[in-house]
Amino acid sequence: MAEIVAGPEAIALGVRLLSEGYLVAFPTETVYGLGADALNPDAVASVFALKGRPSHNPLIVHVSDEAMAQRVVRNWPEAATKLARAFWPGPLTLVLPKTSDVPDAITAGGDTVAVRCPEHPVALALIESFAKPIVGPSANPSGYISPTTPEHVRDAFAEEDLLVIDGGHCRAGIESTVLDLTGDSPAILRQGVIGAHRIAEVLGCDVQVRAAHQAEDEARSPGLIGAHYQPRTPARLVSVDELASAPSSAVLIAWSIESHPAGGALITMPQRLAAYAQAIYRALHEGDRSRGDQIWVESPPSASDDDERAIAEALHERLRRATQR
Ligand code: AMP
Ligand code: MG
Repeated sequence: MAEIVAGPEAIALGVRLLSEGYLVAFPTETVYGLGADALNPDAVASVFALKGRPSHNPLIVHVSDEAMAQRVVRNWPEAATKLARAFWPGPLTLVLPKTSDVPDAITAGGDTVAVRCPEHPVALALIESFAKPIVGPSANPSGYISPTTPEHVRDAFAEEDLLVIDGGHCRAGIESTVLDLTGDSPAILRQGVIGAHRIAEVLGCDVQVRAAHQAEDEARSPGLIGAHYQPRTPARLVSVDELASAPSSAVLIAWSIESHPAGGALITMPQRLAAYAQAIYRALHEGDRSRGDQIWVESPPSASDDDERAIAEALHERLRRATQR
């Protein structure tokens, strides 16, 4: 049975399980990760098996600092040093050439590896005590809503023997920005809380944002297109105006209204985008558990500056795919 455990004992137990090749769910500032020893191909294979993740979708390697990142990366460019110093620990993943130590399963057979240092004391303590990198895809069945609380993980894997280390509710609430540093110029493959403008400021050069729905990107970063983050209850993304016609059987996830127009269930969202991002997966989980036969998500509030714009775009990608049929 999946079990939630907190405190230093949880980290010690987690380290022991990781070194024996088992999986351990752990908190990060973005979402909960399904951890495994990144240098153990069998443990990595179990991550794909437990999530039901397609083998062509590569995993992110989590490290506790830049030095550990350099153990899995073949060439560590100046840009990586600048970005790591500016944003790590934090929700920025760097795609770089991999060393031969990195099992092929992690990178889906490719020559590059995605690496990041999470900003969460529990994640950092776990990786530091383990003293080796761990993979950490979101701790949910492939395609389902990402987990932002330990209960989300436990409920998704209730029947499995899985240690879930408690780290409370995730602060950022959506997945990291994925930045490809292997091309001629830096390119964002997945948008997140850290926007292109902040990366450009640090690097002093242009940063492309590749539209995740472009077919050519499927080859560069599989897992970035198609349905994902989906509740089991059919969900749709609606405008403020459309909300007025919601039937009572639709659970609403909305920020601009105070009650459901037809008297059904309403999950109220924050109006600030950072808080909205933090709350969205929890709201989708809650909507999925409720008795509604559909979930209507109101389009998120609009952005008022560049930081908010980055979050709004990242949210749009998540919600478009969560509601895609
Ligand atoms: P997840 O950890 O489930 O949030 O997903 C990790 C995302 O990072 C996936 O969507 C991958 O497409 C992307 N990713 C992981 N490794 C690489 C890589 N080597 N090159 C490009 N994208 C990657
Ligand atoms: Mg995921």
